[in-house]
Amino acid sequence: MKAALKRAILLLNILLILAGCTSVTEKGNRVINTKMGSERVDGITYTSKGQNFRQRFIILHYTVSDRERSIDLLANKDVSSHYLITDRENEPIYYLVDENKRAWHAGISSWGSFSNLNDNSIGIEIVNKGFVMKDGKMNFYQFPSWQIHKTAVLLLDLIKRYEIEPQNILGHSDIAPQRKQDPGPLFPWKELYRDYGIGMWYDDTVKEKYKNAFSEGVTPEDVQKELKKFGYGIVVTKEYDEQTKNVITAFQFHFIQYKYDGVMDAETYAVLKALNEKYKK
Ligand SMILES: [Zn+2]
Repeated sequence: MKAALKRAILLLNILLILAGCTSVTEKGNRVINTKMGSERVDGITYTSKGQNFRQRFIILHYTVSDRERSIDLLANKDVSSHYLITDRENEPIYYLVDENKRAWHAGISSWGSFSNLNDNSIGIEIVNKGFVMKDGKMNFYQFPSWQIHKTAVLLLDLIKRYEIEPQNILGHSDIAPQRKQDPGPLFPWKELYRDYGIGMWYDDTVKEKYKNAFSEGVTPEDVQKELKKFGYGIVVTKEYDEQTKNVITAFQFHFIQYKYDGVMDAETYAVLKALNEKYKK
């Protein structure tokens, strides 16, 4: 009696396994039908080990416009982004472009060995007016905390699904420092890192190690090489020219934030060195 029961359970298991296999097989296979003929596609028998996601970067933006204009621009014009987070708390996150398609949000851009980041990034636009000039200074608009929380939840989901590395979560100004300021120095990168584990931040102890590095005879060439090593698109000209100032400003927007004058100093350099040590070995 006992042996018969065991046999029955074994048979049931085999049937379940077979049933499971069958459904998976059907899922991975398909038939192409065109007017020129049909072909069977087998997506089960062989699959490649060598593959990764096309989505390597996430680029954060602010829209520089109010909600209505932002929606109109992103939905009806020649610029677009995958996601839009508005300035209304009870509104959903809008999904404007399929994640597998290119959205037109990055423009001429580069990071490390990558250029044209529309090809391999997901763009998130956040409704925020950007900045106004006051007494020759840029005055930026705050992001409400609920808007940052919404952004973080979306980021966590994307990071998990596409296995996006912390060093590939960037602002528009990081990948286009000569043209762009967004998401600006009030975008809370540090809080995203500290509270949600999103993106890059430096370790204070490592930064401390480099606190005197700048005063010990750092040349413009050294600065340019460190910025380039980190990922910025910069030409090593061996002088503090306009393009270098813009890249330093972009770096400060992201990592210094209280100061974004484009002037390299001890603090900015120590942070840059600490980040390179942590992320660009
Ligand atoms: Zn942008």
